[in-house]
Amino acid sequence: MSVAIGTDVGERLAGVTDKIAAAAKLAGRCAGSVTLVAVSKTFEPRAIRPALEAGHRVFGENRVQEAQGKWPELRADFPDLELHLIGPLQSNKAKDALELFDVIESVDREKIAATLAREIGKRREQGDAAAPRLLVQVNTGAEPQKAGVLPAETAQFVARCRDVHGLDIEGLMCIPPVDEPPGPHFALLKTLADESGLAVVSMGMSADYEDAVMLGATHVRVGSAIFGPRTPRLAA
Ligand SMILES: *Cc1c(COP(=O)(O)O)cnc(C)c1O
Repeated sequence: MSVAIGTDVGERLAGVTDKIAAAAKLAGRCAGSVTLVAVSKTFEPRAIRPALEAGHRVFGENRVQEAQGKWPELRADFPDLELHLIGPLQSNKAKDALELFDVIESVDREKIAATLAREIGKRREQGDAAAPRLLVQVNTGAEPQKAGVLPAETAQFVARCRDVHGLDIEGLMCIPPVDEPPGPHFALLKTLADESGLAVVSMGMSADYEDAVMLGATHVRVGSAIFGPRTPRLAA
């Protein structure tokens, strides 16, 4: 059984990687300019292991607590892996997130920027010089229920992260509205990143990652196309 799962994951991973390379080529970019973040939320370590064994190293999780329960054992076996937080971050989880994640893609408000800056400062004092890489989440569709800074406020927020909080912001990420074509949102995020001089653009999921690559994504976050369908969580 686990062998079958592993074979599937390895094959799907290779298929997604091929499609990314083809889209990059079409856009006149090299395949190496796009990083595949394999989104493993809801999947257990034994379902994730085949991807690691196939050589993949970059993964995304959307909940700090879930990731805490899964990734220490995987990191012990694969110390060179890179873990991205792609879900919302609460201030009281900032310290845990810094311990666990290499990249936090969801910096989305002043309060969390201030908290991260404070916790990074503490870690430095304790001799941990490795600062996490940070992306700002942009609510490109201005959806009331969705996290992220508004497009019109993005440049100012990025500047405040740097100038007020001393945070080095590497790029932007977005999750377009589910009921709209994603292309205009991808184009907008790329434009906003360019305007702020940011190199990293995280956009595109299983249904639309090739479009995202065409429109300038440097990171695509792909879950179900690699690990299969997710069963709904028991608790929200
Ligand atoms: C779950 C998730 C993804 C991956 O979604 P799929 O449709 O399974 O590829 C990407 N980004 C974020 C922020 C997510 O929460």
